[in-house]
Amino acid sequence: MQVIGHIPELRNIIRGYKQEGKKVSFVPTMGALHDGHLSLIRLAKKHSDVVLVSIYVNPKQFALNEDFATYPSMLEQDLSFCKQEGVTLVFTPDTQIMYNQELYFSLEVHTLNKYLDGASRQGYFQGIALVVNKLFNIVEPDLAIFGQKDYQQFKVVEALVEEFNHGIELLMAPIERASDGLALSSRNAYLTPTQRKTAPLLYSSLVSAKHQIEEGMKDLTTMFDLLKLNLTEAGFRNDYFGVFDIGKLHPVDQLIAGQRYLIAAATYLGKARLIDNVIFTNKKSIKGES
Ligand code: AMP
Repeated sequence: MQVIGHIPELRNIIRGYKQEGKKVSFVPTMGALHDGHLSLIRLAKKHSDVVLVSIYVNPKQFALNEDFATYPSMLEQDLSFCKQEGVTLVFTPDTQIMYNQELYFSLEVHTLNKYLDGASRQGYFQGIALVVNKLFNIVEPDLAIFGQKDYQQFKVVEALVEEFNHGIELLMAPIERASDGLALSSRNAYLTPTQRKTAPLLYSSLVSAKHQIEEGMKDLTTMFDLLKLNLTEAGFRNDYFGVFDIGKLHPVDQLIAGQRYLIAAATYLGKARLIDNVIFTNKKSIKGES
């Protein structure tokens, strides 16, 4: 496994692999790797000859009030996980390498940015679009893998690939969970032992919403209000919790039979912002009563 911090060196190596006819896949991460990241790497291995993982905490996707300064960092452990998983290349640039001192461009994200994390996190998807666009130009992978955990991110990246003609195949990996249902996340490290015991309530609330809808619940507003109240009483500070269009990501209150929907939530527990989602196919039509 080679660990590379510089762009020209990385490009040379990747071009060498491509000249040999090897398929290159790319798993971008911010490090503090857990089994969720490793599942992406395993999927990448299945679909390619060369797996490149990037580890870079991108300052541009953090708002001033967010946790850039304290984001968990454990490079040695990350590298040993990558090695165990048979990763070929790890790209570990620093910010001087990734960004010019002065930014000459920015990327605005339209439509897909309007709700969910886009509505709550100032500049978040602009920062992601910028760094992923750069990383795609640097790596030029055949395939890139992202997790369903960050579903909105996946849709933004999908749109980016189309808009800027990257010609990269994208795969979405399912959400890896702890045995109690909590979606794995680097930010789970912020939870105290007591909060960690409470945290799975987020996933069970999403599952409850899905079941209630499947069983014919028509009053989605009241259902979500009750689920949010339940979370608040357990100590969460809710951001959003609702049903969204799977493609355009706007909230929906009328569900059409046979269509797929996203139920997504974001909430804070102590210092951790937790996000999670479930995707389901709606069996019966539901007309909103809000
Ligand atoms: P991050 O390091 O948080 O930026 O995540 C890097 C990639 O791992 C993103 O594509 C995430 O969606 C994905 N990821 C994070 N957590 C999970 C999880 N629990 N299951 C599957 N993929 C995940």
